[in-house]
Amino acid sequence: MTNHYSMYIDGKWIDAEENYEIRSPATEELVATVSKGTTEHVDAAVTAAQGAFDEGTWRRTPPAERAALINTVAERLAARTDELAALQSRENGATVRITGALHVGLSVGQLQYLAAIAQQYEWETTGPAIEPIPAAGIVVREPMGVVAAIVPWNIPLLTTVWKVGPALAAGNSVVLKPDEHAPLLPLELAREFEAAGLPPGVLNVVTGDGEPVGAHLSGHPGVRKVAFTGSTAVGKSILRQSADTVRRVTLELGGKGANIILDDADIDMAVDGSLFACMANNGEACEAGTRLLIPSARRDEIVGKLVERAATLKLGDPLEVTTHVGPIISASQRDRILDYFRIAENEGATVALGGQAPSGPEFEKGYWIEPTIFIDVTNDMRVAREEVFGPVLVVLTYDSDDEAVKIANDTNYGLSAGVWGSDERALDVARRLAAGSVWVNNWHIIHPAYPFGGYKESGLGREGGPHSIDEYVEEKFIALDRSGGIETKAFAIVIDPAQN
Ligand code: NAD
Repeated sequence: MTNHYSMYIDGKWIDAEENYEIRSPATEELVATVSKGTTEHVDAAVTAAQGAFDEGTWRRTPPAERAALINTVAERLAARTDELAALQSRENGATVRITGALHVGLSVGQLQYLAAIAQQYEWETTGPAIEPIPAAGIVVREPMGVVAAIVPWNIPLLTTVWKVGPALAAGNSVVLKPDEHAPLLPLELAREFEAAGLPPGVLNVVTGDGEPVGAHLSGHPGVRKVAFTGSTAVGKSILRQSADTVRRVTLELGGKGANIILDDADIDMAVDGSLFACMANNGEACEAGTRLLIPSARRDEIVGKLVERAATLKLGDPLEVTTHVGPIISASQRDRILDYFRIAENEGATVALGGQAPSGPEFEKGYWIEPTIFIDVTNDMRVAREEVFGPVLVVLTYDSDDEAVKIANDTNYGLSAGVWGSDERALDVARRLAAGSVWVNNWHIIHPAYPFGGYKESGLGREGGPHSIDEYVEEKFIALDRSGGIETKAFAIVIDPAQN
């Protein structure tokens, strides 16, 4: 029997007139059918979300009870880790080692962390007395209303939890729009919120294409905040769309992470770490380390080791725990990567490994790219400036730490960066890099208690970390005059000379 996923609107599972198929990018087998939502479904979801907000059950639920419900969802997801990890691997081709630990594991940890900080959050604080009036000052942090959460296909559950978690912890209502290629785990998350007792209409999920469904949601007049993870181009269009209503926006966008190996690094560790930085999640990670910067004097040695180690990466079935690199999400994304190979060679880069789609019976179905390394790359080449979004590493050389920093920061992006070397020197370089996350002697360290987000065109705002909830509240200052009206009387005297 086919696994079918409906949309979740106003506490009901709703079907659209049309369905579409999700097929495994590794085998092209049918994984599920999904409702193809329309702009009318977006309207219905926003109305339901606003209705739930106005009715107020969820936002008036004490924060500790909201946190308890979020914890219940975390427990329910944790209990299904293996099943959900396998479903994610079948749906988007990310390897099961990554989908278990990162996609599901980190999402569970993020929800638990949010539940913990929601209980200590200063929902209402009283400040110092306001003299000389005298007045009391109160700051209330209250939910915004309807939040639109729009997420991509590469790490769907974590990018969803980063938005839905704090939005719900703060008492907002949410309309979630997963990516059309990978909506299943966001829908499973909604199932768990329903099972945990979230009131109807507080969380809604509309599935369908970016255009028109995503664009209709992000521009909807009923939406007070858009939280988006995806491409920089769409992020910019959402920012423009939001200008008219001064809608709040959080953006997590693309990246072109610079990964610097210093000449005092443990080269074997740095080489393996650099492959992990670039190739994990099939290279389909916004925070991937895709530009490798190595000292000119050590070029041949490092490139030799890199190619030797990369050649041992196992490309194949994402459900096998021994697989390092799985398939590419779609035929069009594979073709886009192949186009970049032609562009790179035309610009003078040299293929040191891969550079093509693999051949062989196991690659007849699905969409595949060999782990690829380009050398002789300079930072002005498109392959060094644009996000390729696949298992493709470009290698550049530098002559001094200053030059490495300059090349690393010479990009429109600023999501991630990394440095391999002795602690103090690497830390000094790390402090000079313009990126939201900088990893020293490792990569992909994403932790619920620390912020994630980008400098420059990689984003706006941060997700995760101790300030996660701040992005989903409005701060209201209430001043209570305790003077018995002295100031008001004085003002009345000024405007009414008869009282003088
Ligand atoms: P995308 O921007 O095409 O799609 C992302 C989401 O936006 C999907 O749900 C899509 O349906 C929707 N969408 C598409 N067009 C839209 C529009 N006009 N208005 C509103 N919504 C629209 O992104 P993609 O290329 O499929 O995903 C990969 C991108 O996501 C990469 O650039 C990657 O770097 C980025 N990403 C960033 C982070 C981060 O945290 N910074 C994390 C994961 C992925």
